[in-house]
Amino acid sequence: VGYLVSPLTGIAGQWAGFQRSVTAIERLINLLERPAASLELPSYTPMVQEIHSIKFSNISFGYDENKKIFDKFSLDIPEGKVVAFVGPSGAGKTTLFNLLQGFYQPQSGNILINGQHTDNLTLGELRSAIAHVPQETFLFGGTIKENLMIARPNVSQADIVTACRQAQIHDFIASLPAGYDTAIGERGIKLSGGQKQRMAIARAILKDAPILLLDEATSALDSETEYHVKTALDHLMKNKTTLVIAHRLSTIQDADLIIVMKEGRIDQFGNHYELINQTGLYKKLHYNILAKKEK
Ligand code: ADP
Ligand code: MG
Repeated sequence: VGYLVSPLTGIAGQWAGFQRSVTAIERLINLLERPAASLELPSYTPMVQEIHSIKFSNISFGYDENKKIFDKFSLDIPEGKVVAFVGPSGAGKTTLFNLLQGFYQPQSGNILINGQHTDNLTLGELRSAIAHVPQETFLFGGTIKENLMIARPNVSQADIVTACRQAQIHDFIASLPAGYDTAIGERGIKLSGGQKQRMAIARAILKDAPILLLDEATSALDSETEYHVKTALDHLMKNKTTLVIAHRLSTIQDADLIIVMKEGRIDQFGNHYELINQTGLYKKLHYNILAKKEK
């Protein structure tokens, strides 16, 4: 019987994982299938107003049970600081963000916000505490204003304009034929990579959640756009606890704490000046980025 049971337990585990993804996809489809006019947005009630601590405590996790990404991973995120995650592709940076947002559950260990286990929070409560600027901005086929209001329903036009000014995207929007009511997508205007990114930053400013997760775009922006994005991010990160998967030299160097990840472990940590003076992965990564920049 033994040889029958073990593959079945494997299947059960995969099934549980599969069910979780199916539920997530179903939720998304339900939301997307509702007609835009009646798009019901969850009311905005930030559960966690202030962040005193975020703690990953002995997390073990794998997308499937044969391949562990994290094995008893622990990390304390300091309050109100910018923490940059760097490391080779596949190190587990995005997975860490997925776990913090509750997209997946660790197989063992806990994630605590202000000492509270996040599995005691509903997904809605957890996500109301987190603003996420993803690498690829998702815009739907509505107006600019609708695309911004998804971050915070019932927000006033004045607040939208303030957020867009801070995100360095207001002047562009104001220059469009229908301004904030201009349609985007297939039937409307197309935004550049930098403009999309600043839309995402404006959304995050509107959401005003105490935790900010940034997945920096890897694609190069021209230097003017980069300057605008940086200014926008400076506004956004004010008074937030920020976790950023960082690719840009300036983001990494300005971070209060850099976590160098490798194969699901913390390989090195410290600030730029501490790390650049050590032989190790950080130094190598740093010179790789420099070399790419000079090309
Ligand atoms: P990073 O963001 O540091 O590049 P990831 O967290 O994306 O690393 O990936 C960590 C490991 O998890 C990699 O081996 C990757 O192949 C795997 N992985 C990432 N996402 C998934 C997924 N949705 N399903 C299965 N494996 C995944
Ligand atoms: Mg990643």
